[in-house]
Amino acid sequence: MEDQYGRKIDYMRVSVTDRCNLRCIYCMPPEGIRSIPHDRILTYDEIARVCRIGTGLGISKIRLTGGEPLVRKGLTGLVEMVRKIPGIEKVSLTTNGILLSGNINELVSNGLDGVNISLDTLDPVCYRELTRGGELERALGGLEAALSFPRLSVKINCVPLDDAGEEDWIGLAALAEERDVEVRFIEMMPVGLGKKFRGRNSDEVLKVLESSFGTPEKYTGRLGSGPAAYVQFPGFRGRIGFISAVSHRFCSSCNRVRLTSEGMLKPCLQYGGGADLRELLRSGADDRQIEEKMRETVFRKPAGHHFTEEREMTDRERSCLEEKEMWSIGG
Ligand code: SAM
Ligand code: SF4
Repeated sequence: MEDQYGRKIDYMRVSVTDRCNLRCIYCMPPEGIRSIPHDRILTYDEIARVCRIGTGLGISKIRLTGGEPLVRKGLTGLVEMVRKIPGIEKVSLTTNGILLSGNINELVSNGLDGVNISLDTLDPVCYRELTRGGELERALGGLEAALSFPRLSVKINCVPLDDAGEEDWIGLAALAEERDVEVRFIEMMPVGLGKKFRGRNSDEVLKVLESSFGTPEKYTGRLGSGPAAYVQFPGFRGRIGFISAVSHRFCSSCNRVRLTSEGMLKPCLQYGGGADLRELLRSGADDRQIEEKMRETVFRKPAGHHFTEEREMTDRERSCLEEKEMWSIGG
């Protein structure tokens, strides 16, 4: 469907859990989080129902995320349930990769179309520090396992930090030299703990990559459902993408909404509120009532975020901002 600004909304990111097996410094506090009780989290049947009703609004692509989606038991079964819904054309997963190799066969046979693996460095010591204890080998094992399925679209997501070694970006980008994989650099967004970190913008990262790999060509083919701009360096099999949410705001072409693990349908990452679908799902509402609520929420999607102008906002505008953390909304 189209929202009030004429944007076509066809993509829903679904957070299946707030829990995570890592504690990335810009995402989760070291002590972890107070987990939401199971009964407040949508069941898989409820998630699948929202996805099915969403197809009536034109939602055709679903991304499962979290927290870490693979820590929730039975996730492979959810992939199958959602992928079988008529009108759903694509189901993908965003994961830190730690539990991927043990699940990938079943995920793919249940219809998974794509996987994004978060990897900010290829240095095992830095990885352990950044994730507060993660083992790089396991994430790389997940990546290798995913790459062994030629039909599966595999992307690597890196959030470039201000004090990260530039050689990390070069090493990560080099993965796309030999392999058919997209390596994407995502600007740090001032959401949750991310507000305390300064990331590096896409132009800065591109400059560093150009000094190693030469001048890239703009890639104009269609890749994925999101806002990444891709380039291809000479001799590379895969592409390098940039998601410049802060430096080159792309809200005017935003096609997504988010469903939190507690069942809030959120039209924009930066704003609080949204529609409490759990309340409707558990109070006996029929599909038509839920669809109506979803339609209203999607239609009222805000024009855009104000990441860079937050300081100049009025108190009233600021009071509408999302206070939740990235792991809670579903990054
Ligand atoms: N645990 C999974 C993972 O790490 O891929 C899925 C959830 S995680 C919140 C999704 C993505 O959001 C990760 O790639 C992570 O690096 C990114 N992320 C977390 N906080 C962020 C922030 N403030 N700005 C930009 N990206 C962020
Ligand atoms: Fe967990 Fe992903 Fe957040 Fe890291 S970025 S703490 S892996 S949810």
